[in-house]
Amino acid sequence: LMQLSIPLNFIGFVYREIRQGLTDIEQMFDLLDVPAEVVDRPDAKPLAVASGAVRFDDVRFSYDPERPILKGISFEIPAGRTVAIVGPSGAGKSTISRLLFRFYDIKSGAITIDGQDVRDVTQRSLRAAIGMVPQDTVLFNATIAYNIRYGRPDATDEEVRKAAEMAQIGTFIEALPDGYRTMVGERGLKLSGGEKQRVAIARTILKAPPILLLDEATSALDTHTEQEIQSALDTVSRGRTTLVIAHRLSTVIGADEIIVLKGGEIAERGRHEQLLSAGGLYADMWNRQREATEAEERLRRARETD
Ligand code: ADP
Ligand code: MG
Repeated sequence: LMQLSIPLNFIGFVYREIRQGLTDIEQMFDLLDVPAEVVDRPDAKPLAVASGAVRFDDVRFSYDPERPILKGISFEIPAGRTVAIVGPSGAGKSTISRLLFRFYDIKSGAITIDGQDVRDVTQRSLRAAIGMVPQDTVLFNATIAYNIRYGRPDATDEEVRKAAEMAQIGTFIEALPDGYRTMVGERGLKLSGGEKQRVAIARTILKAPPILLLDEATSALDTHTEQEIQSALDTVSRGRTTLVIAHRLSTVIGADEIIVLKGGEIAERGRHEQLLSAGGLYADMWNRQREATEAEERLRRARETD
């Protein structure tokens, strides 16, 4: 896991440097010696996960001091429950998941897991407790088995196979000439967005973390792939504390709480039926997506009868 977290921090770091207009390559490499922005406290203890209850308490955060991104966010995910975050792009949804993973430190407020502030525990133990299925999974240039086993390096072949099946990618892998030994990544077989995401789900099933962070696939995926991924995600989130960032609202109907984020603030919150009858932002988003899905269906049926 440390192997994964360092490059991610590094990418964020380089990205920010580039954004700040740093163009001198030599200077950029000099900066690599600068310690990462998020560091363990000298007295940091390993996170002790009891049930995996997550709490955001009046969290404020900005990437650049002049531009606040989260303006006082409070919510709780009781152990084993699912909270969904929806809202327009740029609202700060992915930022919330990055903060729980502690890629950045917040400006004020607190984020706790089972009562322990994420700033007081080791990053290693924090990241071991959380399984993240990101929007864009980057695969290693290695075999597909290696990429899945990364979730738990001591997993047996049988366990890897089982996880792949649960993630709805097993049949696809077995149909490849080299099966689980197929090389994937930039220098191997290129997988589609949906296939990569299912590899990430298989990896997370093997890891079996108490807390899950899911940044769902976008509508770039066709409806069939979307449904397969959805059932894989349902399998992995059963009984685990789950924070899901949802693009398709059809996936959040069963969430224990839906938070509608807009401009870094909670605009609405409640269960699906409550939000629908409130007739606000969520209801608008729901109606727009339903119309789009129906139009898509009509188009598909028209093509089939051609
Ligand atoms: P969402 O996931 O809801 O689409 P994000 O949480 O990714 O939104 O981003 C919220 C806002 O923060 C956006 O305006 C985005 O441009 C900005 N942002 C995201 N990442 C960075 C970063 N590393 N540096 C500066 N601004 C960022
Ligand atoms: Mg996002």
